[in-house]
Amino acid sequence: MERDEKIEQLKEEIRARLQRYSQRSGFRFNPDSQVVEDILSGLAARQSSKGKAYCPCRTTSGNVKTDAKMVCPCFWHRDEIERDGMCHCKLFTTPEMPNGIE
Ligand code: SF4
Repeated sequence: MERDEKIEQLKEEIRARLQRYSQRSGFRFNPDSQVVEDILSGLAARQSSKGKAYCPCRTTSGNVKTDAKMVCPCFWHRDEIERDGMCHCKLFTTPEMPNGIE
């Protein structure tokens, strides 16, 4: 399989997994679909290069145990959504977040 094809396949697997998470958690994907596509692409690239879907907005340490907290949905996202209305990467937002956020 070509590398681009593999990343696309990973991206769709991650999208499906995180959509299920979104339904369970009550958080929703950012209404800005470009943000969603960019972050899902970043997650897929990280899964391809580092073996796990680490947050594309954080720097991994290389320590598997420490970095486990960065696998999306990461350890911090609930607190961030509660505080800011969205996670650090802006992938997940509260259901109340209006459309068209920056
Ligand atoms: S900040 Fe958002 S996109 Fe990044 S890992 Fe956490 S939940 Fe996922």
